[in-house]
Amino acid sequence: MMLYQSTRGNGEPVTVTEAIKQGIAPDGGLFVPTGPVGISLEDIVNMAPTSYQTRAIQVMEPFLTGFDQGELAQCVQDAYNDNSFDHPSIAPLTTLTRELSVLELWHGPTYAFKDMALQLLPHLLVKSMEKTGETQSILILVATSGDTGKAALEGFKNVPGTAIVVFYPDTGVSPVQKLQMITQEGNNVGVFAVRGNFDDAQSGVKNIFADVAFGHQIGTHGFKLSSANSINWGRLLPQIVYYFSSYADLLHTGVIKLGEKINFVVPTGNFGNILAGFYAAKMGLPVHKLICAANENNVLTDFIRTGVYDRHRVFKKTLSPSMDILISSNLERLLFELTGHNATMVRQWMQDLQEHGRYRVDDDTRDRVSQLFWSDFADDQDTLIAIEETYTRYGYVVDPHTAVAMRVQRRYQETTGDRHHMVVMSTASPFKFGASVAQALLGPEKTAGQSEYTLLETLADFCNLELPKGLSNIHQLPILHNQVVDKDKMKETVATFIGQHTKNR
Ligand SMILES: *Cc1c(COP(=O)(O)O)cnc(C)c1O
Repeated sequence: MMLYQSTRGNGEPVTVTEAIKQGIAPDGGLFVPTGPVGISLEDIVNMAPTSYQTRAIQVMEPFLTGFDQGELAQCVQDAYNDNSFDHPSIAPLTTLTRELSVLELWHGPTYAFKDMALQLLPHLLVKSMEKTGETQSILILVATSGDTGKAALEGFKNVPGTAIVVFYPDTGVSPVQKLQMITQEGNNVGVFAVRGNFDDAQSGVKNIFADVAFGHQIGTHGFKLSSANSINWGRLLPQIVYYFSSYADLLHTGVIKLGEKINFVVPTGNFGNILAGFYAAKMGLPVHKLICAANENNVLTDFIRTGVYDRHRVFKKTLSPSMDILISSNLERLLFELTGHNATMVRQWMQDLQEHGRYRVDDDTRDRVSQLFWSDFADDQDTLIAIEETYTRYGYVVDPHTAVAMRVQRRYQETTGDRHHMVVMSTASPFKFGASVAQALLGPEKTAGQSEYTLLETLADFCNLELPKGLSNIHQLPILHNQVVDKDKMKETVATFIGQHTKNR
């Protein structure tokens, strides 16, 4: 039976259903599995001819004690199917050369990699609520700067036993992101603009979570608050699957031999995606290096090189906004694993981070980090060059986040001469960030003065690619959410939403 413990070491281990329901441990730590899970080379070779859904069940099952095969299969089917994903392979692997492949993690409803986890999490969460005897419905509250909000809305829409309210800053999301959210369908969703910036929306949501009286008040209406953020084990677990899946695909097409080690290059922000790669390696996937590709907010590059994590630096807005992060929460899990589950050390480092914005790990831990990880970063200029270069070399179009990874992948090969097969994690459709991609491929003259939306069409024409369905018709969809609220009225907004939705439960 697999139990989960906090990285800060307090409290008794809990079941996976509790870990998913609680999201974060009561002592502020993150839940991690207490014991190891192994997948043998034989298991991996058996995965090669199977579907993504079958691979998902096989990889996740040992972590989900208490879920029977039928339930897990149902969750997986509800998450990854023809309605939600526009590619039958779910996460298809495109091999560019014998040494380089790209794993496309953006065929879900919002065209970015968050869907890989957020399509499944709601189903795991609802099952976890049932299994822990919880009778309340879940109300998910999200403050978003763009991507996560839409992905969470798509994941939770119409899921029985749940409702979701998303707040976004009225200035601070792109026109396409805003359109995606205000046209959101679903009988259990609320979307509200907040007068202010992302921090205002975020603080408002934090205040609501901290308000005990408010929690009781919504409890009397049959709801319980929860969050869908990336530190929930239920978001990390689905991400381990595609590391195995890409390896199985490479075996199946004969690009690699069984047991051959490969590298993964991961565009990184909150360290969730690449941490899933770490767990895959720990389970037995033949991984040589995990390459952490950062943008100019390169706090992780410095950490991997020096063992010092220092968030004191200027926050930069870049062309890869989903990686604009200075506190990579999931790193705490890696530290816990690499110190052999030493909660005392982890607690100290996290306290240093809290109080001084900085910590330094001991030399042993630093060496363990650099045995498996390598890191470099790309600035905006490099990113645009990489978009262009990738298109010229391979005829393949990448978004700015993936471009950061392409750039760092080349530097890695130039620097180390390492020839293990490389899998670049592609985290967004090029059309999701089409304006930057169009700028890189067509140049400033041909793109000047065009709206974000017409740029998407220009880009599709230029590359001879089809605009994804959900982006091509977005201007014709009815606007369903047009309320703008003051930042001190967010609580009332949630209360009103609940009043309206109690009858629909
Ligand atoms: C969230 C996101 C990332 C960063 O992933 P982490 O798990 O936070 O490291 C990279 N690219 C895109 C497009 C994203 O949406």
